[in-house]
Amino acid sequence: MTEQFRIALLPGDGIGPEIMAVAVAVLEQVGQLCDLKFEFRAALIGGAAIDQTGQPLPPETLETCRQSDAVLLAAIGGYQWDALPRQQRPETGLLGLRAGLELFANLRPARILPQLVDASSLKREVVEGVDIMVVRELTGGIYFGQPKGIFTTETGQQRGVNTMAYSADEIDRIGRVAFETARQRQGRLCSVDKANVLEVSQLWRDRITALASDYPDVELSHLYVDNAAMQLLRWPKQFDTIVTGNLFGDILSDAAAMLTGSIGMLPSASVGASGPGLFEPVHGSAPDIAGQDRANPLAQVLSAALLLRYGLQQSAAADRIERAVSSLLEQGYRTADIAAAGQTALGCRAMGEALQQQLATALPQS
Ligand code: NAD
Repeated sequence: MTEQFRIALLPGDGIGPEIMAVAVAVLEQVGQLCDLKFEFRAALIGGAAIDQTGQPLPPETLETCRQSDAVLLAAIGGYQWDALPRQQRPETGLLGLRAGLELFANLRPARILPQLVDASSLKREVVEGVDIMVVRELTGGIYFGQPKGIFTTETGQQRGVNTMAYSADEIDRIGRVAFETARQRQGRLCSVDKANVLEVSQLWRDRITALASDYPDVELSHLYVDNAAMQLLRWPKQFDTIVTGNLFGDILSDAAAMLTGSIGMLPSASVGASGPGLFEPVHGSAPDIAGQDRANPLAQVLSAALLLRYGLQQSAAADRIERAVSSLLEQGYRTADIAAAGQTALGCRAMGEALQQQLATALPQS
């Protein structure tokens, strides 16, 4: 029997609509191949939403997402909205979406594809075989802690304040996602904090350590965030799964992403305890190349694969997409951001067409 799913599409800004068009075509094709039916509902977010409604996350967008089985987002943001007050900025829409869907866990894979080892800025022997999953807490920590703001002191000085705070429950729920994730991978979890200086990190370390007794099959280690950043660059292969808070995770997941040398290749997933997950590329809206048919659509397509795997539990369909992407790269297809000197670069649309061709001809299992 054909399975049916409702997917909310949020193309957003910049290159968003271009790469989303490729991902939707791929999803439709893989749906036909795997007997899945998708009902797509597009909604506004970010700058596009500000221009049409005055708000970066219109209530109807959040409602469309809540009524879906999964949400596929491209990217938000652009220079033209940078001067708006914070509450009206595109990024506020994204933060609101994550909070509105209660997406507290962000899964960011950083895997070096064998075909793209030379795209990394690190040496081949350092990055070859790297396969890391960063599990970042997404709805707590310093980005949300109170008090926050720019205040004026009694002496008339301005003072900027943010507060890093985590409750035991917040740490436990992200910890459990991380242990479960590590269990499905190589069974090694490294928790990153700054427990030598920060009380909030001391609680983080205590709770994660306490959780470990429920996961005897997972090997737990701890690193301070400064050392973790150093180790990621020195010998990234030592890591399997990393779990950390919102701020440290923001920075470390970008550093891990750059090990792969290709931000246009990296998908991410954000999930909560229940309800639809949010699947999106790691990169932003790339306003410098928007509308020029130069974007790499593969991170968006791989985000659609993550959506199938983790959002809809359709791993056979996800496998098909991931295999098609690997085969394309194997055959030398490249967009400009991942092309080596002398390699021909395809545009966004042509890369999408090549991918569809590959999907049409590939056998279900190879
Ligand atoms: P960016 O990721 O948009 O771009 C960084 C560089 O990578 C640019 O040179 C860009 O051309 C290139 N790039 C990114 N994606 C690419 C792709 N798919 N194919 C080829 N090249 C690609 O980051 P930025 O320049 O710091 O930010 C631009 C805008 O995006 C800002 O408004 C920022 O707030 C927003 N942003 C949004 C998200 C999101 O939607 N989750 C994430 C990061 C940044």
